Amino acid sequence: MKRVLVHSCCAHCAAYTVEHWRQQGYEVSALWYNPNIHPYTEHQQRLEAMQALAEEMKLPLINTGGYDIVEYFRRVAGHEAERCGHCFRLRLSKTAETAKEMGFDAFTTTLLISPHQKHELLQEIGAELGGEKGVEFLYADLRKRYSDSRHITKPMNLHRQQYCGCIYSEWERYGDTTIK
Ligand code: SF4
Repeated sequence: MKRVLVHSCCAHCAAYTVEHWRQQGYEVSALWYNPNIHPYTEHQQRLEAMQALAEEMKLPLINTGGYDIVEYFRRVAGHEAERCGHCFRLRLSKTAETAKEMGFDAFTTTLLISPHQKHELLQEIGAELGGEKGVEFLYADLRKRYSDSRHITKPMNLHRQQYCGCIYSEWERYGDTTIK
């Protein structure tokens, strides 16, 4: 059976995504690497929710243990309006590298289920990194299943985030602004 490593941004996006790849015949493992989630206490709450989901779904979860917040800000500083591309690249590079090192057949990300993410950019960066790192990037447009995924996690009463992750997205959410 082929093995896929799924970068997981949060439990709520992971639930259906994992189901989807299992239905496609893959043995699925998840990877946690999200230095874009601020502040640290919010990162920990989302990680705990992901760990609870992994237990429920009998899903192996690799926690890189790296909260590379300094690296995140170094990449984004001065390019705040285009920060999502840098953010995707940082997280997906780690996933592709880990997949390669651990002998997975492919990698992908739960971000592909979210209608709030820059979907085409994710697809482009994933494919590019797949070629660069020598491991297949699995693409699927799962946006129509976003509410199904939340439906799966609802009874679990897990922490539910109110903004994408970075401090900029928190300001955009509550300050009703757009960073240029
Ligand atoms: S808005 Fe979300 S995807 Fe974009 S940089 Fe911030 S955390 Fe990353």
